[in-house]
Amino acid sequence: MSRAVLPGSTIGVLGSGQLGRMFTIAARRLGYRVHVFSPDDDTPTGQVADVEIQASYDDLDAVAKFAQQVQVVTFEFENVPVQTINAVDRFTCIHPAGHVLHTTQQRIREKSFLQSAGIPVTPFRAISSLDELKSVRNDEFPAVLKTAAWGYDGKGQAKIQSPGELEPAWAALNCNEAVLERFVDFDCELSIVAARGHDGAVAFYGPIANTHRNHILDLSVTPSALPPGIAKEAIEIARTILAKLEVIGVLCVEFFLTTGGRLLVNELAPRPHNSGHLTIDAHTTCQFEQQVRAVCGMPLGAATQLRPAAMVNLLGDLWQKGDPNWSEALAMDGVKLHLYGKREARVGRKMGHLTVLADSPAEAAERALKARLALVSRAPV
Ligand code: AMP
Repeated sequence: MSRAVLPGSTIGVLGSGQLGRMFTIAARRLGYRVHVFSPDDDTPTGQVADVEIQASYDDLDAVAKFAQQVQVVTFEFENVPVQTINAVDRFTCIHPAGHVLHTTQQRIREKSFLQSAGIPVTPFRAISSLDELKSVRNDEFPAVLKTAAWGYDGKGQAKIQSPGELEPAWAALNCNEAVLERFVDFDCELSIVAARGHDGAVAFYGPIANTHRNHILDLSVTPSALPPGIAKEAIEIARTILAKLEVIGVLCVEFFLTTGGRLLVNELAPRPHNSGHLTIDAHTTCQFEQQVRAVCGMPLGAATQLRPAAMVNLLGDLWQKGDPNWSEALAMDGVKLHLYGKREARVGRKMGHLTVLADSPAEAAERALKARLALVSRAPV
């Protein structure tokens, strides 16, 4: 892009979930208009966008029309088909570019790219048949079998403890391509959310310490209590990935820190990330504003953290016995509520999050967990 896309222009977003919603809120704050394209209607993003287009990603005429009405396009969902990206590309710029999405959309391509860049990844094998899977040696267990594409939040994964579990796991995944990863004994999981602008400038958030429950992110805390050497190494890995992939936009790198003290990259997400939601309240410029600035060719903002922070996800599970007790949680000091406007609160569905700012990361984490517990307390009758 030779010229910046200035406030007052229109940004197109592919995908319409909570990431698009928080992106759109940041974009509108900066004076942009937003058109969102997805197969659904009354979506978390559509509710806050200027225009919501409901069409299939395969409807390339609708995609072309959408692309002609905006000055730049980005995405919030990495499973957008490559043909859709190519159809956008014919009319307007898309950031991050199609090659970034192509690499990160599929685990084998992603891991191969990381290995070729000299970055340590979880030991893995590419698997394309049951016979290949059955040839795994006994010393490769326990392992995790993951579909090569379309997986998220632990969907499309199965932990395998012994050879007898290979066949049922392959049948359950029901795919043509998978990766078999060594099960990693980790001390903790962490992420770096990184942004890169048109001019090559970069900004980093984290390391953010992440705890998962049932494979879904549960709690994020920053600053994390990691040795400074590890924090520096994680940032350098993220810097290398951004540069090698020539990312323009935001990209999250998720890591395991093994019990042996080694950093391994688990996966990449070429967009803002759940672990970066706390940047909305805790940082000078949040991850969503960085995405707006980067894709529009504007300078990145400072990623300075203002206060220690923790974020807990609010899953649909919290609604199963009625509406959460919002007053109880909001009465607590430093608690910020973010809800995504989803109508149906299904078990395991991300409905919103709480961020808590405090004097220390441990205090922020404790208060965030307490605030979430308060949501399921009943008001006295
Ligand atoms: P993923 O979708 O690959 O990010 O996996 C979701 C979560 O499952 C991770 O954040 C880990 O908590 C767990 N997990 C995934 N892969 C592994 C592995 N190879 N070893 C141990 N835990 C894993």
